Amino acid sequence: MLYKNLKSLFFLLKWEEIGEVDEDYAPIHTYQVCRVMEQNQNNWLYTNWILTEGAQRVYIELKFTLRDCNSLPGGVGTCKETFNMVLKENRYIKVDTIAADESFTELDLGDRVMKLNTEVRDLGPLTHKGFYLAFQDLGACIALVSVRVFYKRCPFLVKSLAEFPDTIPGSEASQLVEVVGHCVNNSLPLYEPPRMHCSTEGEWLVPIGKCVCKPGYEEISGACQVCKVGFYRSLLESPGCSKCPPHSVARQTGATVCTCEDGYYKIESDPSNMACTRPPSAPRNAISNVNETSVFLEWSIPLETGGRKDIRYNILCRQVLPEGRGLDECGPNVRFLPRRVALSNTSVMVADLQSHTNYSFLLEAVNGVSELAKDHPKQYVSLNVTTNQAVSVVRKGHTGKSSIALSWAEPDRPNGIILEYEIKYFEKEQDSSYTIIKSKDTEMVVEGLKPSSVYIFQVRARTSAGYGAFSRRFEFQTSPYRDERAQASIIAVAITLALVLLAVVAGFLLSGRRCGYSKAKQDPEEEKMHFHNGHIKFPGVRTYIDPLTYEDPNQAVHEFAQEIDVSSISIERIIGAGEFGEVCCGPLRLPGKREIQVAIKTLKVGYTEQQRRDFLWEASIMGQFNHPNIIRLEGVVTKSKPVMIITEYMENGSLDTFLKKNDGQFTVIQLVGMLRGIASGMRYLSDMGYVHRDLAARNILVNGNLVCKVSDFGLSRVLEDDPEAAYTTRGGKIPIRWTAPEAIAYRKFTSASDVWSYGIVMWEVMSYGERPYWEMSNQDVIKAVEESYRLPGPMDCPEALYHLMMDCWQHERTNRPKFDEIVCLLDKLIRNPSSLKKLVNSSHRYEGKSGSAFTLICIAVLLFRTCKLPFTQIFHQMPTTST
Ligand code: AMP
Repeated sequence: MLYKNLKSLFFLLKWEEIGEVDEDYAPIHTYQVCRVMEQNQNNWLYTNWILTEGAQRVYIELKFTLRDCNSLPGGVGTCKETFNMVLKENRYIKVDTIAADESFTELDLGDRVMKLNTEVRDLGPLTHKGFYLAFQDLGACIALVSVRVFYKRCPFLVKSLAEFPDTIPGSEASQLVEVVGHCVNNSLPLYEPPRMHCSTEGEWLVPIGKCVCKPGYEEISGACQVCKVGFYRSLLESPGCSKCPPHSVARQTGATVCTCEDGYYKIESDPSNMACTRPPSAPRNAISNVNETSVFLEWSIPLETGGRKDIRYNILCRQVLPEGRGLDECGPNVRFLPRRVALSNTSVMVADLQSHTNYSFLLEAVNGVSELAKDHPKQYVSLNVTTNQAVSVVRKGHTGKSSIALSWAEPDRPNGIILEYEIKYFEKEQDSSYTIIKSKDTEMVVEGLKPSSVYIFQVRARTSAGYGAFSRRFEFQTSPYRDERAQASIIAVAITLALVLLAVVAGFLLSGRRCGYSKAKQDPEEEKMHFHNGHIKFPGVRTYIDPLTYEDPNQAVHEFAQEIDVSSISIERIIGAGEFGEVCCGPLRLPGKREIQVAIKTLKVGYTEQQRRDFLWEASIMGQFNHPNIIRLEGVVTKSKPVMIITEYMENGSLDTFLKKNDGQFTVIQLVGMLRGIASGMRYLSDMGYVHRDLAARNILVNGNLVCKVSDFGLSRVLEDDPEAAYTTRGGKIPIRWTAPEAIAYRKFTSASDVWSYGIVMWEVMSYGERPYWEMSNQDVIKAVEESYRLPGPMDCPEALYHLMMDCWQHERTNRPKFDEIVCLLDKLIRNPSSLKKLVNSSHRYEGKSGSAFTLICIAVLLFRTCKLPFTQIFHQMPTTST
């Protein structure tokens, strides 16, 4: 608020002008009148013409003293204690009658106390350029000390980069005068012109809108300053000048945009703060995998992405014409899945190529600025692919009632070295189920066929490039039931059959098994996959070599494990704790291979040489195995620190924890599928001559497809690593609950003791990770097992599975089934799910040789479980039984 005093001069009518001093003896000038003794007073004091200067409302501040009539001597009846203030524009208007808050007396005069009154009145709306004021006395005793006439103004103001001029308020008391501001130099109104409102009190109120510095300028201390070289400001909304983003420059002050350096580009939709970018380099690590007349191409993202995320890939396909006649575009018949250009993934399937033909693929990476970069040479990675030639003719050799010998010729121009052949066959008109067997030779005998039946055969070759197309279909028939050999020795066969039958029946009865285990005979060189029932057998596998046989343990590691460059691995997160250090996971990118997720076991820092050897021991063992149910070793990192073992990543972690987390969530068939996988892995290990010694659900890993894989092959696993391992009376640490009695008693570890452990794993799986023998002590477990106690069937466990468990827990190890028998039986159960319907219940638990004792023990266990009595207390009350 600003005041402006208006000038005025007085002229008097019966008022007197007096020079006096105030209470501080400072000289003052007053106008007085005091004609209280006389009747009919009408005394005027006028001001000069007072210019309003445009103000429509003015204020009058009066300072005066007034005599108290009561303090005057008696007889002065006309005495007044007020006076009038009058305004004249074109006529006289009484403004107000002014009274004193405090009037003075004789006494005050004696004391020279003035008792000054201050009164303010406002006048308006004024309509003329000026006015007069007058003070009318009607018989009071007044001294007018000062008259101040002024008006209020809203002062010049700079707010939000807008200037608002000095403004005179409106005439009405509550009126606001709207004033539009003027943007300061180099600024602009944002959205709307800035406005403020001037109140009658001379205050600026209600700001609306604002100004901002124009692009190329920024606000500093209420003014707009130009952006310096190397800085820019493009948007009115941005707070200040910003440094030019990477690969762009502003060579002059006041830049509103930065320009890209040579070789770098921007597209319209790129935000102004984004760096200038360039086209990507070529894709990397392109690989192909041929499958018949399709090829799957895969590559890694380019090393240089050009600084952009919008990378897409285009494929150029050309067929190599024979006899050096050059290249020809692939033509419209070749299909690209999902498409040929603008691929966002780093793979594509190219289908409907011609068989046994050379193709050249160019893979190009492009991004948003590739179109602008006309001078930038296109960068491709090229990939030459040859589709495999099909096997042309399959011939029939010797034919039996259940077998047919086949032979075929190697394709004329195989696409690389032939690794193996696949023979696909099925009974004619039953092609919904077929079998595939593999052979390394160009001939093989297909067995297990039905007599007098027609079969369809097709053969295809696999090279390192992938599979060739299957040959056309060949139809061959097996001999009638009585073949020539059978005719020649029918009586001998009959006798033999009778004997075999007798032996089988006797064996069946003696073993007490309800389920027979039949060992399938296979050619060790073949792998046979019956897709109808999922049976895969890997016979004739290599023998496991104990790394101990190597003088230098490092040699064993490098014999069986591939050294991986640490730069191919990135560690993303920790997933567990191993004996030697953390277990992590992350992607592994090996040159020419697609990226896979791996588990990374690390050896903690500060290890001894012995610990390093023990750690890598596991890799020397694992590296010898190659089976879908054994954890696969990808390699080791030994040339840098930390030393690491890299294995395939199993999304669901260890089986025991996984089952506990998913209690009751799986179907019986899913559980049997898991058990079948574990048995298959164990069959492979036992075929290799490897005894695991610590088979337990905690040492099985589960992947995202519920495939179970045997893991934990450490040297010291049974001794140190396994928290379940306990010292036995004969020394050495053993996981008692999972270990066969002969292994506990005299360390007789064999595949048969692994079978015992497998039975315990079955029990763990069927009870969703329950702890075997619950809280019984190890000593009680040993004792109970020796006295023929066996775990009772888990709740809802199919009887057939419980029988199998009980067989695995036969005291006499030679009576336990072999792993291939277990796999075979589980396959039968999977094929015939109704065999899993009958469940174990408490009244129908195992009743073997020591049936009564067993039932009692079951009751003991139940008592233990329900009453929490110490097991031994119940147990020792039992009659002893012989095994
Ligand atoms: P280990 O030292 O082999 O007993 O591993 C310790 C823990 O790390 C296991 O219990 C798993 O939870 C986890 N782990 C080990 N290897 C893998 C793997 N290949 N995939 C996923 N988790 C794993």
